[in-house]
Amino acid sequence: MTKKVENIAVLTSGGDAPGMNAAIRAVVRACSYYSIKCFGIYKGYEGLINNEIEELNARSVRNIINKGGTFLKSARSKEFRTIEGRQKAYENLIKNNIDALVVIGGDGSFTGALKFSEEFNFPVVGIPGTIDNDINGTDYTIGYDTALNTVVEAIDKIRDTASSHNRLFLIEVMGRDAGDIALNAGIGAGAEEILIPEENMGVERLIESLRKSKKTGKTSSIIVVAEGDKSGKNIFELGEYVEENLTNYEVRVSVLGHIQRGGSPSCYDRVLASKLGVGAVETLLDGKSEVMIGIVHKVVTIVPLNTALDKRSHRHDGLIKVADITSV
Ligand code: ATP
Repeated sequence: MTKKVENIAVLTSGGDAPGMNAAIRAVVRACSYYSIKCFGIYKGYEGLINNEIEELNARSVRNIINKGGTFLKSARSKEFRTIEGRQKAYENLIKNNIDALVVIGGDGSFTGALKFSEEFNFPVVGIPGTIDNDINGTDYTIGYDTALNTVVEAIDKIRDTASSHNRLFLIEVMGRDAGDIALNAGIGAGAEEILIPEENMGVERLIESLRKSKKTGKTSSIIVVAEGDKSGKNIFELGEYVEENLTNYEVRVSVLGHIQRGGSPSCYDRVLASKLGVGAVETLLDGKSEVMIGIVHKVVTIVPLNTALDKRSHRHDGLIKVADITSV
């Protein structure tokens, strides 16, 4: 890529995450700082295909750093998965004189961005914005820290009712492929057991472990279950199984669902989003493309999109052991 970047567009795509607004704000203000134009694309790739594009300036993004969701709105676009859809997207970028694109989203959004860049030789940079923390090459994704705190707060409240009634609660949290939310929120909220997609503890071992806890004097229990856990049962079937195999416990199931995506971003997510947003603009100005801006050991890092899309290596380190030890 040799052409000087002068007009950058930004969009948010896939599931929304707290901190996306802070990332958009940082992109817009970095453009303003470096005296280049910035355009906001509404509704992700769908809006790009439909030419829902508007120029933004530093004042367009005031009072949004503290807001959850994304003011540009996000969407899932079937049409962008087709070459015809991506062709329309390209034509709209050219029509608006845009010469580089910042995509804030998860792995699906990055897959689309990479394909688009390869097909049309169009510069793209990705910013990881997803509550799941399931992107390779970055320690954290924007929204993950806020979601974690939301989950811990919810579990704390459920614990009040669990302990008042000698109940066992199975709490489902987000995480189809990554157990980061379940494991960290589970430890933070003092869960007795944590089921994650990366490990299959088996339902028999789960029952055995709960029996043991009961013998040690526990009268209520919290089990955190990631939605992608490998028990082979959905959370309601798991609840029934536990109730059938464990006496003297009333079992209740709680699915936290979409509350995990919402809310004002934590300070950590706001700062992370600000760093990555500035990093994305500087990277495009440096002439780089098809990369993601991530954070590794607190340092802003440039990672090829291909690497970001690799199956993330197992990163739970000693956490599973910590969970086991602190829940005896
Ligand atoms: P989250 O992690 O929150 O689900 P995501 O970015 O992974 O976010 P997806 O719904 O998987 O969310 O992807 C967002 C959009 O990216 C899709 O709606 C589609 O428009 C585009 N996309 C995904 N995969 C592809 C692909 N293989 N080719 C082209 N575009 C794609």
